[in-house]
Amino acid sequence: MSRTRKPVIAGWFSGDGDDFRLLGTRCSACASVFFPREDTHCRNPGCPGGDLEEVPLSRRGRIWSYTDSQYRPPSPYVTNPELPWEPYALIAVELETERLVVLGQAVPGVTVRDLAVGMEVEVVPGVLHEDAEAVRTTWQWRPTRGR
Ligand SMILES: [Zn+2]
Repeated sequence: MSRTRKPVIAGWFSGDGDDFRLLGTRCSACASVFFPREDTHCRNPGCPGGDLEEVPLSRRGRIWSYTDSQYRPPSPYVTNPELPWEPYALIAVELETERLVVLGQAVPGVTVRDLAVGMEVEVVPGVLHEDAEAVRTTWQWRPTRGR
C-alpha cells in the first residue's frame, strides 16, 4: 500500500519534477520577496505596505555557505531516536534574482565533500522522513554540475 505524500509545511513549495518550485510572497509596493512566505505585512521597514502575492522562486542558485549536520536536531525536527543518526549536508543557497538565502538539505548521497561556495545548485523535491501515515515531503538542493 502506498502512503500519502504530505508536505512537511503546506504552502512553501509545489509541483513535481522540473515544475517543482519553492513558493514565496512578493510585496506589490516595494517588490521585496519573502521566504518563508510572509502573508500578513511586508517586513521592509521602509515600505508603506502592499499586497503580498504568492510567487514561485528561482529554481537555481549558488551555494552561499554549507555545513555538516553531525548531530540530531532537537524537536520539532522529527527523527526516530532508535535509529542511528545519519548526517546530512545543510546548504544556504543564494537566489540572485530574489536576493534571498534559502536553507535546505542536500539531496541524499551529496556530502560536504562534494560542495563548494559558489557552486550552482537547483531545488528538487525530497523526502524529510516517512512514518506509518505518510511520506513527508520537503525541498532539497542538488548540484547542477553544469547541466
Ligand atoms: Zn513592501
